[in-house]
Amino acid sequence: MSEIQKLTAAHEEELIQKLSELVRINSEESEPLADAPFGAGPRDALLAALAMMEKDGFRTVNLDNYAGYAEMGEGEQVIGIIGHLDIVPANASDGWDTDPFEPVIKDGIIYGRGVADDKGAVVASMIAMKVLREMNVPLNKRIRLIMGTNEERGSRCLAYYVEKEGHVDLGFTPDGEFPGVYGEKGMVAGVYRSKHTNIRYIQGGTARNVVCPKCTVRVDKISYSTKALTDWFHNNSIQFSIENTDEYDEITVIGNAAHASMPELGVNAISYLMMGLKQAGFQDPFVDFYCSRFGLYYDGTGMGCKCSDEYGALTWNNGVISMKDGVIEGSIDIRFPVTMSARNVVRLMQDSLDHEGGSVEIIHTAEPLFFPQDSQLVQALYSAYTEVTGDTEHEPMTIGGGTYAKGIHNTIAFGCAFPDKDYRIHNTNEYCPVDELLKQAEIYVRAIQNLLAI
Ligand SMILES: [Zn+2]
Repeated sequence: MSEIQKLTAAHEEELIQKLSELVRINSEESEPLADAPFGAGPRDALLAALAMMEKDGFRTVNLDNYAGYAEMGEGEQVIGIIGHLDIVPANASDGWDTDPFEPVIKDGIIYGRGVADDKGAVVASMIAMKVLREMNVPLNKRIRLIMGTNEERGSRCLAYYVEKEGHVDLGFTPDGEFPGVYGEKGMVAGVYRSKHTNIRYIQGGTARNVVCPKCTVRVDKISYSTKALTDWFHNNSIQFSIENTDEYDEITVIGNAAHASMPELGVNAISYLMMGLKQAGFQDPFVDFYCSRFGLYYDGTGMGCKCSDEYGALTWNNGVISMKDGVIEGSIDIRFPVTMSARNVVRLMQDSLDHEGGSVEIIHTAEPLFFPQDSQLVQALYSAYTEVTGDTEHEPMTIGGGTYAKGIHNTIAFGCAFPDKDYRIHNTNEYCPVDELLKQAEIYVRAIQNLLAI
């Protein structure tokens, strides 16, 4: 057993106790209050975490309940570990086997909302700082555990932190994957609109960044061939229903949700419904627009922006669709390759934005994040991972999702998920093995040592 492993293991009870205390606070975003920009839950989780660190003798600062940090060491430069204390909603009635806010340990695994995303990583980082102190590691830089409270809903916490405290000199956010994420695709978000339609009603999807799992339309009776529609759905193994009322037919397609950064894993209900209607002879300018521009593609083909680099390809997702006052509106979510710019991608689409049946408007863009794989930051973190785990098979990667690393300089996502593991984050029965939390702490100790040496 290495010294770090021994020192870390001695904090097991404390780790469980601290994590349990934080999990018991439901820190889903809620109505803002005068002293709680993201609601009482995120504020209370931040106050509890800062109190823990203060009690353990670290300097703490609360930035108006947006974010806070605990710090040790001296020097001009700051090494940041950036985690978050807010969570996505959890309801026992969604199918949890245990109360999501009352952590339970069974067979060495802790269950509860946030144990993997991201309260577990925050607590493992707290332990890592205590172990570094016990080791009397000379600190030529400040080590700062930065805790945000709005990561799941836009990361305004981190923007506030950067505004008040500036960027860090080196850092990692343990809110992604081991052995590190050196590239995050850029994003283009947009909406499409059309009033040229005979559709009476349409509703589908849950969020822009999720492949639409269910979509319903109402159309005039005998405006399409029921047989052609049914045949097409059957041929494509699509789950659907058609309900005939006196006034209209209501058609529902059931797809399969997936994250927008991996649309190939899902089945888009809007796309299959539109393609089905077209095959069934439904005459409609909007359906024509949808099928020619988006169709069943998830690589931007119909919009002229299909592209890729050596690290990955552009992905395209149609997440939600609805209709108001006769106008159909839907969302698009594009993740583009790490070596491209938002301007490149928008330029590729320029000629495809307008169509007689509808138009696409770009509403928001975010540039990609990219560090060369052989950069000091990526190498320092990667070698900490290999030293502690012995795993040299997995390598740092690029992803389509976005993390805190996009919002603060000199930072990449590192941890907290171990390769090929599914902790059911954002899902029911979220869990994390206790020995993995300790392993995380060990890796963070080594990582900080390596960063101190840069
Ligand atoms: Zn997270």
